[in-house]
Amino acid sequence: MTAVEPLSGIPLPAPAGGEPYLLTPGPLTTARSTKEAMLVDWGSWDGEFRALTAELRRRLVEIAGGGDAYDCVPLQGSGSYAVEAMLGSFVPRDGKVLVLMNGAYGQRITRTLGYLGRAHVTLDKGDYLPPRGHEVGAMLDADPAITHVVVVHCETSSGILNPIEEIAAATAARGRKLLIDSMSAFGAAPLDAATLGYEAMVSSANKCIEGVPGFGFVVARKDSLAAAKGNSHSLSLDLHDQWAVMNKTGQWRFTPPTHAVAAFLEALRLHALEGGQPGRLARYTRNRDTVVAGMRALGFETLLGDRLMSPIIVTFFAPADPAFRFDRFYALMKDQGFIIYPGKLTVVDSFRIGCIGQLDEHVMRRVVAAADQALAAMGVATAAPPSSALDERKLQAA
Ligand SMILES: *Cc1c(COP(=O)(O)O)cnc(C)c1O
Repeated sequence: MTAVEPLSGIPLPAPAGGEPYLLTPGPLTTARSTKEAMLVDWGSWDGEFRALTAELRRRLVEIAGGGDAYDCVPLQGSGSYAVEAMLGSFVPRDGKVLVLMNGAYGQRITRTLGYLGRAHVTLDKGDYLPPRGHEVGAMLDADPAITHVVVVHCETSSGILNPIEEIAAATAARGRKLLIDSMSAFGAAPLDAATLGYEAMVSSANKCIEGVPGFGFVVARKDSLAAAKGNSHSLSLDLHDQWAVMNKTGQWRFTPPTHAVAAFLEALRLHALEGGQPGRLARYTRNRDTVVAGMRALGFETLLGDRLMSPIIVTFFAPADPAFRFDRFYALMKDQGFIIYPGKLTVVDSFRIGCIGQLDEHVMRRVVAAADQALAAMGVATAAPPSSALDERKLQAA
């Protein structure tokens, strides 16, 4: 982790009307111009809206580094709809999936495969340990029936950034296909299609591109999209069909989220203006470094060591002090203009602070000051976690 430098740059404008900052991994705080882009009613069949759709698809392939081999298929619904569509469209009915699990989103993928009736096995690393390339390789060697590996890029439930490169290498070396849930990381963390050679990747409008909720999108190999015909169990979630119709007519098959698409185009413009993925990563990294340094100075401890911590969302252990209550902490933070996020660990109490959205280090310093105030109001003497929480963390070093 880099040391936090002095404040620099012009602060981002605050949300309008005194609304709180969302320190959550989507929906998140969007730019005013992104919200204003929704003040137009578009005809879904109209040429101008079709041009928006075409530009959205082109720019997402560009951000993904997909070149001519990949295409983008947007799909109505939240991110989970797009994950389900990816699994149902690319895994043939007689396929078999290895799911790498280390949190709630990996578990959701396993549940989804159960609904889809696709054969699957899991590598379950618990709440926050990373699945490693050699573990994936050993499981693939032991079971030649496995056709696909599915991995979550940033597991938003803990904030861990999983080691995508070594997992992609282990998968490709054995001729299997890789599907990636990069919902909470795409657009900020590097994920180069040409280097990783994945079959498909999924993300959604309201995460690191900083749009509003309403649709997800899949970036996939064109040959895989063509070969996916007939795989899907579901008409509305059939990515092959959505792709084929979109290529033919320029339109979404069913009612598109027109306002969310218009907002997304503005969000993409701001993304490019900030320097694309590297620019966004730099701001989110400063956000994380600022909030982590400040919270550690108050006595808080992070679940993850610096090596595994993503610049997307950070999990903090709840303080051991009996005067600390999360509900009260949440309310006190909200009173000061910050919506934080509850924890999702099974073993120890925790909470999360998101680093994504229209936030900068100036905001993150105020978040830390607000946490300090909240602790004082509750009468919490120290934010140090129970020693059992720190024992958990030692497992990561092993
Ligand atoms: C946000 C997210 C999803 C999708 O969640 P929705 O609530 O359906 O939008 C899936 N995977 C990960 C890793 C996420 O962060």
